[in-house]
Amino acid sequence: MNESRTWLLGLDLGSSAVKAVLLTPDGDLVGRGVSPSGSNPLAAAHALRTSLTEQNTVQAVRVVATGYGRNLANDVNRAVTEITCHAKGIRHTHPDVSSILDIGGQDAKAIRLDADGGVDDFVMNDRCAAGTGSFLELMARRFSVTIGDLSAFCGDDPGLDGGMESEISSTCAVFAESEVVGMMARGSTPVEVLRAVHRSVARRVCLMLRRIKAAPPLYFSGGVAQNETLRLAVEREIGFPVKIADHPQFMGALGAALM
Ligand code: ADP
Repeated sequence: MNESRTWLLGLDLGSSAVKAVLLTPDGDLVGRGVSPSGSNPLAAAHALRTSLTEQNTVQAVRVVATGYGRNLANDVNRAVTEITCHAKGIRHTHPDVSSILDIGGQDAKAIRLDADGGVDDFVMNDRCAAGTGSFLELMARRFSVTIGDLSAFCGDDPGLDGGMESEISSTCAVFAESEVVGMMARGSTPVEVLRAVHRSVARRVCLMLRRIKAAPPLYFSGGVAQNETLRLAVEREIGFPVKIADHPQFMGALGAALM
């Protein structure tokens, strides 16, 4: 293989979605793709790889995998942890980054970088659904709102804290859901309930950000970063600006490609 003409494919095998990013041998980004992980994330990864390499008539490609399913794939050159890849992808796209909040389907990560872009400290929640995309999906579904419409439904505004009556205090998704039922029984509207859901997710992820002493510029990545209401709720809770990374869902795949 002529290493100098080798294209670079980053694959992020996440719990909810598989993401792929293709770079030319010169490092230019020429393609991205995303597909639900479903029951066969390897098949999803293979289909993305085939479509991106065929579209670009790629002869030789080096593949680096990251994400939850990175060790499942056997036709890759290397597997690298998500924390390293996210840091690399965001640092490449936003060189001023100091801290990262990444929220995916079933996990959330807070990462602080050092002055050279290395990982200084991080915390990850992959044990509890509260504070992740799947909890927001569950809550949205309860009100027949699609995940893509959730932010617009909330009016792009997480609302103000309204005292305990309108707050969800549980840190467990199962108990939080029963609090939601309670709020509805007390007459809260769907918008009020869903805004409270956003505030509870924001409070939870801000505990992680405080643990790593996150500082601005803070970039928000992962599929959930497309939710403007949540960005605003986190910004209000942490007390400094929260910026959305460019193409936030692809930061891990980009970082993998750059490895
Ligand atoms: P993972 O790497 O864990 O598979 P991703 O970073 O790919 O996760 O993000 C998947 C999550 O992003 C899902 O929970 C999904 O609901 C959420 N998501 C996808 N699109 C949107 C959108 N337009 N707005 C808000 N959330 C979204």
